[in-house]
Amino acid sequence: MRLDDIGEFGLIERIRRSFGTSSKKAPIGIGDDAAALCVSPGQSLLATADMLVEGVHFDLSTTDLSSLGWKSAAVNLSDIAAMGGTPRSCLVALAIPRRITVEAITEFYRGLNTLLGKHHVALVGGDTCGSKKDLVISITMLGEVPRRQILTRSGARPGDLIYVTGALGDSAAGLELVRNADFGMQIGKSKKEQRRSAAIRKLINRHLRPVPRVEWGRKFALSGCVSAMIDVSDGLSSDLGHVCEQSGVGADIHGDWLPLSRSLKSAQGLSRDAVGYALSGGEDYELLFTVPPDRERKLLKLRIDATKIGVVTKGRALRLLNEQGRSRPLRASGYDHFRTAGRGTGR
Ligand code: ADP
Ligand code: MG
Repeated sequence: MRLDDIGEFGLIERIRRSFGTSSKKAPIGIGDDAAALCVSPGQSLLATADMLVEGVHFDLSTTDLSSLGWKSAAVNLSDIAAMGGTPRSCLVALAIPRRITVEAITEFYRGLNTLLGKHHVALVGGDTCGSKKDLVISITMLGEVPRRQILTRSGARPGDLIYVTGALGDSAAGLELVRNADFGMQIGKSKKEQRRSAAIRKLINRHLRPVPRVEWGRKFALSGCVSAMIDVSDGLSSDLGHVCEQSGVGADIHGDWLPLSRSLKSAQGLSRDAVGYALSGGEDYELLFTVPPDRERKLLKLRIDATKIGVVTKGRALRLLNEQGRSRPLRASGYDHFRTAGRGTGR
């Protein structure tokens, strides 16, 4: 069905019908001039916005609309997680070119709602307009966190240990594989080939449907053992750089301590080595955080999948250490919208 068959208000009505108009936390949701939300006493309101632009952040030849909806929610949920907060509600603004069908938009909202539902986040509004060329998605996520538990980028101190959740580099490798038109050819029949294609599928899935670490972020905030936190969206070197800059510190990272998934280590046909993806590949949406040494035992008791990768230092240098202890400068090599050439890898 074409968008001009139902028009702007027809589309909004469909969205409103599938998401409902009110809930306990949002007595007024989609359908009025603004949503009215309840904020719990003693909590700070968190607000974050992220845009996804066709040709910059995604390409409709390498993602399906449902995954795009999921990912649009994930990148915003991850920002709330990185503050130690609980996501509550969101607004979705879309600029839609005429070639996109109503079914495609319905798929987008299906993927979005699947992830929002897992976190009990209500869709409470947004905006809809036409676009001359590209599909543009802008999501605003609102959340809350007890005032004293907020985790920022500025709390790291020399001597703190640097940790990261999950594994790094999978998403960037997945992006490269999904762009490589030949990856389908590798889905073969032998056991070895099957293992290989399972690894490829895992990496692609990590790129298309990243899992925001909301529960873990909340646990870190509650535990009181984390001094600074950020989510890894632009790449470890870039995001660590943000923490160091805002905390006024440096960092030593051990290249051989970086958590690499089995899929990344075993995937064939990649242009870089696994550590290269882990250092500069973005969009993993893992949590990077620092822990004062006397709180490390408490952190380990949380039993969260996190790996120590280095230590916060005095001064401002970011260094990468190898197994022999030799170091080289770690340069921020993540994506910069106005400095990085080319298209399609922006975040
Ligand atoms: P207004 O003219 O006041 O901007 P709109 O007609 O744009 O109102 O929107 C009507 C209602 O639908 C509002 O509650 C708005 O938040 C919601 N809405 C509009 N577009 C979207 C969308 N893409 N997703 C979710 N809610 C939307
Ligand atoms: Mg409007």
